[in-house]
Amino acid sequence: MIILVVNAGSSSLKYQLFDMDNEIVMAKGLCDRIGIGGSLIKHSTHDGRSVVKEIEMTTHKDAIAALIKVLTHEEWGVIKSLSEITAVGHRVVHGGEKFFSSVIIDDEVMKTLEECVELAPLHNPPNITGIKACQHILEGVPQVAVFDTAFHQTMPQKAYIYALPYEYYEKYKMRKYGFHGTSHKYVSERAAAMLGKPIEELKIVTCHLGNGSSIAAVDGGKVIDTSMGFTPLDGLAMGTRCGSIDPAVVTFLIQKEGLSAEEMDLIMNKKSGVLGISGVSSDFRDLDAAVEQGNQRAQLALDVFTYQVKKYIGSYACAMGGIDAVVFTAGIGENNAPLRKAMCEGLEFLGIAIDDEKNGIRGQEIDISKENAKVRVLVIPTNEELAIAKETKKLVM
Ligand code: AMP
Repeated sequence: MIILVVNAGSSSLKYQLFDMDNEIVMAKGLCDRIGIGGSLIKHSTHDGRSVVKEIEMTTHKDAIAALIKVLTHEEWGVIKSLSEITAVGHRVVHGGEKFFSSVIIDDEVMKTLEECVELAPLHNPPNITGIKACQHILEGVPQVAVFDTAFHQTMPQKAYIYALPYEYYEKYKMRKYGFHGTSHKYVSERAAAMLGKPIEELKIVTCHLGNGSSIAAVDGGKVIDTSMGFTPLDGLAMGTRCGSIDPAVVTFLIQKEGLSAEEMDLIMNKKSGVLGISGVSSDFRDLDAAVEQGNQRAQLALDVFTYQVKKYIGSYACAMGGIDAVVFTAGIGENNAPLRKAMCEGLEFLGIAIDDEKNGIRGQEIDISKENAKVRVLVIPTNEELAIAKETKKLVM
């Protein structure tokens, strides 16, 4: 079974074509600069062929047409015709309160997706455009929506209601939703498989630490709390996002600096986080390099991030009434061994103790805890595209 996975952004569209009989990526690529001039497609295949080509793409429909052309191309293709594609899985950022799991897209689903636009005005519109483009070009091929929010929909009300006048929840559906759900679901299921236990018996804290970061408390396979909120700005300090701050800071700065709401939004989303603290970079590799040079604000940024992750692990262990495993995933979680060590330091009282040698091993699923530690600490490379392909396969089988 061949499944195409599509992740459509406002001016870019990433794709991966999976052979789901063997779970291998046949080809993958990126359509970039859609509708903004100078558009190009970058494409590579599992057997090492690759191409970068300038192609005029003014709409997402052009991008889908371009990727179908390259997938079936004599020189760079991996399939003979688009009829070999059984289904398409789409990453959709926001499913609001309607979607607890992935769904086959029909007219009703499309209507609900449109209703969710006001909850994710930057992300959902390009996702919808991507779906429509695929429906048009791959007519009759089942399309599946896989939501970033769905896995978190099991949270109890006490975890997702904000202490604001309740009418805002009723009027605007203003509440905590959580994001990165596809990744949290994937790594928590992999963790259960690695530990050889049913997920229903496990209390897991999953730490997705990348440019955007979030943590989830997964109790018996269900999320009971997560760090991101109404938007992906909440929770941890991130590359450029401020994470949780005293909400009064917002009105204070707007008044003091004479900022508009949009300017304040830009500061919190693009100029804050570890970039804001360090003044160096949003990339943790650059921060590591700056620390080597003796940059104290870069060190402070890393300390803030580490401290926050540690507090979430502790608080979610309390929220679940215990903890069996901590999972580290995404760019930082998978690759930054010194930070993993720092995040686990001082948590021995919870039963967390990592083995330095194992912590140094990279690029594979691994249990890095000490032999006799009560809590297992796992590093699990996330694979959101494969997770989307699996969900899609499950629904169309
Ligand atoms: P992501 O958003 O998951 O791609 O993660 C991006 C973050 O992961 C950046 O801050 C990078 O510095 C960090 N990262 C990615 N790859 C590596 C690596 N090989 N070694 C250290 N850090 C990495």
